[in-house]
Amino acid sequence: MKKESFLDIKNIGELKKSKYKVLSVRDEIRKNLLDKLEKREFVFEGLWGYEETVIPQLINALIAGHDIILLGERGQGKSRLIRMLVSLLDEYVPAIDGCEINDNPYSPICARCKRLIHEKGDDVKIRWVHREERFGEKLATPDTTVADLIGDIDPIKVAQGRPLSDPEVIHFGIVPRTNRGIFAINELPDLPERVQVALFNVMEERDIQIKGYKLRLPLDILVVATANPEDYTARGRIVTPLKDRFNSMIRTHYPQKKGNRIENSRTRILSAKSKGWNKYRGS
Ligand SMILES: [Zn+2]
Repeated sequence: MKKESFLDIKNIGELKKSKYKVLSVRDEIRKNLLDKLEKREFVFEGLWGYEETVIPQLINALIAGHDIILLGERGQGKSRLIRMLVSLLDEYVPAIDGCEINDNPYSPICARCKRLIHEKGDDVKIRWVHREERFGEKLATPDTTVADLIGDIDPIKVAQGRPLSDPEVIHFGIVPRTNRGIFAINELPDLPERVQVALFNVMEERDIQIKGYKLRLPLDILVVATANPEDYTARGRIVTPLKDRFNSMIRTHYPQKKGNRIENSRTRILSAKSKGWNKYRGS
């Protein structure tokens, strides 16, 4: 079935019939990245001077499905690099319509969608989410809270008489809202320790705790963080388990001026290839 005709699919039953496969965000990125490399298309365009350093490492990290931390000073194009990752997502993916966390139509994780499927089965409506909607970004500051990142109890729902034990009273923060997408956290060491622990729990333990209420939420997210190298290596700025969770650490540097570049984009891709992405092929 052609890509365009997928967009006409309106509910879970039709999606099942179409045999559409939902991939995890990491598998989706890996698939699209390998496809671009194969076709020798541009992957990260316009970051002069990164061809031999940052980009091959980034490609390897993405193929390996790692969460990534970019270490570098301000002005080294880190945020720009992260935003370019959005182009590696499928243009549209299906999600359960009205879901705050873009639930996978085949295996929803939020209480609301599980209830919907229980009630309506294959008639549950889906919506096609554009890749631009699947990116969340937060600048970490010392006053960033667990509520900002993870979520909070929604006072309106409580006022409507729902009990606190009802998982549907939760108002999700930016991390769950980026479910099935890419979440970027800038200046990670500025995040308070308590919030770092909450972030780690989401990434590793796949559960969230809001005001003592524990909820299992196996989110599907690629996390990319940035940090200043000095802050990152300073004792106590990042809690160890969170640090260990980033499997790929990539040092950035000041990009070169456009006129200084010595190679064209084709050699850029070939160099990425020779640096080992090839070994991941054939799966
Ligand atoms: Zn949902």
